[in-house]
Amino acid sequence: MAEKNYQDQVEATAKQWLQERGVSVSDIADLVYFLQRKYHTNLTHEECVMNVERVLAKREVQNAILTGIQLDRLAERKMLAEPLQSIIEVDESLYGIDEILSFSIVNIYGSIGYTNYGYVDKEKPGILAKLNDKSTGECHTFLDDIVGAIAAAASSRLAHSSQQKSGQQPQ
Ligand SMILES: [Mg+2]
Repeated sequence: MAEKNYQDQVEATAKQWLQERGVSVSDIADLVYFLQRKYHTNLTHEECVMNVERVLAKREVQNAILTGIQLDRLAERKMLAEPLQSIIEVDESLYGIDEILSFSIVNIYGSIGYTNYGYVDKEKPGILAKLNDKSTGECHTFLDDIVGAIAAAASSRLAHSSQQKSGQQPQ
């Protein structure tokens, strides 16, 4: 029982931190819709929301959210030690640990997640454009990759579950 309460608390905190950083479940569902609308006729926003919620229920996803947002916040407050402070604050392109952290999310539903992740990372639709706006003074070095990864994982989940519905084995 205590363990369940603790798990619930981790999930609730991860979701709360996403909200506090300006990212709603609906924003991530919009990315899923963007990625999957070509492949699923009659895809609804609600289905996208449901798949995002299922991804957010996974502990490895909550861990990535908490770790990434904490580092972004510390960088914003200039509380990290150099050279890490500057590297994260300017989102240095050679750093790459933000992407590696996100792979722990993309990995969950297998390799098709990587294609979706690469695509949203390149196109930066919706909430990703907002998170990448460097003029706000906010630091989302980790969060942009995490949000893209959650959308990619939810898209993979959607793809797997619709294959199962039509009686095919998931690839
Ligand atoms: Mg990044």
